[in-house]
Amino acid sequence: MLASYHLLQTTVKTPRGRSNVLPIFLQTARMRSMIRFEVFTLFPDIFLPYLESGILHRARKKGLVAVNLHNIRDWTTDRHHVTDDLPYGGGGGMVMKPEPIFHAIESVLGDPPCCPVILLTPQGRKFDQTVAAELAGVPFDEPGTPEHQFGLLCGRYEGIDERVRQHLVSDEISIGDYVLSGGELAALVLIDAVTRLIPGALGDPDGASKDSHASGLLEHPHYTRPPEYRGWSVPEVLLSGDHARIARWRREQSLLRTWLRRPDLLHGAHLSDDDHRFLKDLGKAAEE
Ligand code: SAM
Repeated sequence: MLASYHLLQTTVKTPRGRSNVLPIFLQTARMRSMIRFEVFTLFPDIFLPYLESGILHRARKKGLVAVNLHNIRDWTTDRHHVTDDLPYGGGGGMVMKPEPIFHAIESVLGDPPCCPVILLTPQGRKFDQTVAAELAGVPFDEPGTPEHQFGLLCGRYEGIDERVRQHLVSDEISIGDYVLSGGELAALVLIDAVTRLIPGALGDPDGASKDSHASGLLEHPHYTRPPEYRGWSVPEVLLSGDHARIARWRREQSLLRTWLRRPDLLHGAHLSDDDHRFLKDLGKAAEE
C-alpha cells in the first residue's frame, strides 16, 4: 500500500522536507490526451483502494488519467503540523487554516494556479453528467491544454477559511444536497465520473454514450445468463438475434423508465418522432 502511495505522488519539496517521486503514469501520459487531477486533502489514504481498482486503475495504467495526491499537512511549517483552528466569532467545530492550503496549491500548481482549482463543497454547483462531460472536455479538442489538469480541494471539519474560496478557488462543486464529513468521497465521485468519459477508459468504446444521463434518458434494463432463473424469464426479444427489434425494445424501455422514474429528464432529451409517438401512447394509456 505504501509503495503505491508514493507512485501517486509528484516531485514537490514541502516544508516538511518531503520530496516525492514523479509517478511513472505522469511521465508517460503527459505526451497524450489525458486528464491530471491534483488532489489536496488531509486524508490521501482514503483514495488508494478506489484508485487501484477497476476502471480507474486501468485508465491510470493506460495513461488516460493521473491522480496525484497531496497531503495538505505536508505544507504546515509549525512543530505540530496544525491544519485547523477555532472559528473567529465562536461556535463549534474547527476551520481549515489558509496557509497550508495556499502553500500546497501554489507549490504544485503555481501562483496563480495554472489550471482550475475546484473546491468540493455542499455549497457548489450541482455535479451531474453534463458537468462531468464539461470537465472531461469530451470530445478532446485540444489535448494537453491546461483545461485537462484540475486541482481538487477537499475540505474537512466546518470547511475551509473563506479567503481560500475567495482568492484561490476558481470553481465549486457539490455532489448533492447532503453534507459529508469531508470532500474526499466527492472528489472520488467526480474523478470516477469524468474518467469514464475519457475515450478508451471503458472496455466498450460506446459504453459511456449508452449510460443513463448520457443522452438525457435513463438506460434500458440489462439481462444476462441464465435465460430463466426461478421462473423469471429474460424478455424474448433479447434472445431473438433480431438487432433492429432489440434496439427498438431498448429505446422504448429507456423511454418508459425515464417517463416513470424521471419525467423531468424528458424535457432535455433528444427525441425522435418515433420516441414522441411512443411517449404520447404511454400518456394516453395512463389516462385510460
Ligand atoms: N459546514 C459546511 C457547510 O455547511 O457548508 C459543511 C462542511 S462538511 C462537514 C466538510 C467538507 O466536506 C466540506 O468542506 C466539503 O469539502 C465536503 N463536503 C461535504 N458535503 C459535500 C457535498 N455534498 N459535495 C461536495 N463536498 C462536500
